Amino acid sequence: MALRPPGHPDGAGGSLGRAWVTKGLGRQQARTGQEAGALQVSLSAPEDRGVAAPSPSNRAQPPLPPHPVPSQPVLSCPVPCRQESRAMLHWGYDEHNGPAHWKEVFPVANGDRQSPIDIKTEETKYDPSLRPLNPSYDPASAKIILNNGHSTSVEFDDTVNKSVLTGGPLSGTYRLRQIHFHWGSNDEAGSEHTVDGMKYAAELHVVHWNAEKYSSFVEAACQSDGLAVMAVFLKIGECNPQLNKITDRLDTIRIKGKKALFTNFDPSCLLPKSLDYWTYFGSLTVPPLLESVIWIVLREPISVCSEQLAKFRSLLSTAEDEVACCLLRNFRPPQPLRGREVRRN
Ligand SMILES: [Zn+2]
Repeated sequence: MALRPPGHPDGAGGSLGRAWVTKGLGRQQARTGQEAGALQVSLSAPEDRGVAAPSPSNRAQPPLPPHPVPSQPVLSCPVPCRQESRAMLHWGYDEHNGPAHWKEVFPVANGDRQSPIDIKTEETKYDPSLRPLNPSYDPASAKIILNNGHSTSVEFDDTVNKSVLTGGPLSGTYRLRQIHFHWGSNDEAGSEHTVDGMKYAAELHVVHWNAEKYSSFVEAACQSDGLAVMAVFLKIGECNPQLNKITDRLDTIRIKGKKALFTNFDPSCLLPKSLDYWTYFGSLTVPPLLESVIWIVLREPISVCSEQLAKFRSLLSTAEDEVACCLLRNFRPPQPLRGREVRRN
């Protein structure tokens, strides 16, 4: 997940971008201003619709100059990524702006509740009070599929409780906001969470927010119990016909900022048979890395084939007016556990 700085040019992000986050006394708070209504427009990833960088210097900067007109048309992959002259002009997953640099602009990157983590299965604690998970999704609430430059996501109408997650470690009802994926430059790595050090090829995140306590996704994203993200590991095996519904559409949203209508889709078609899980308190895995996520990591992976994952890597992290650069990888490596407990049902 990602939340963008103010005024980001992506889609609805601009109108919502003025909601920003300031670090409070041990708690992140959001000023959402007049944007609550705009949250109902599901035209970009929650990250794009939402919350700004916690860095005051970020707010003070003048608008960025437009990128130079590309000297070449959009190319097929791989093409070299352009080095920004200023580090972290935009965060990403390349050497100059990747996870190792995020702390320069988002100090919470070194916080006590960061994600993802390596799950050491022997150290997880069985908790008999953990209930079964109960996802209940309405296919009609799916609205669009988009490329936000950091991932591809399917956005859902979250104005009412049509698609919700209850049970598991959660108190109350969490409303489905979007799903997105993380992958690697080859099939050997790509998941964000790891299990006893083992990496999966990719990871699906199903993002929900606490609609019982909070009035908007942006508000929830700044609260310690605001978000619930269900993570599903993708391992290489048989092609997954359900995933084709998404991968077949990636050609049409290859360029950052592109979106297409996408409805009649129930994300539970991408869940494994068993919904047994590990759970812990963590953060968004992309800037601004807010520590507001109750993670629910499913233990059973789903299968995908190499050809399907290759389609994700053909997405571009660059917009129409930039030199084309493929989004070959988009995962953050595991972060320190710092004494946190990982429970299992
Ligand atoms: Zn994610």
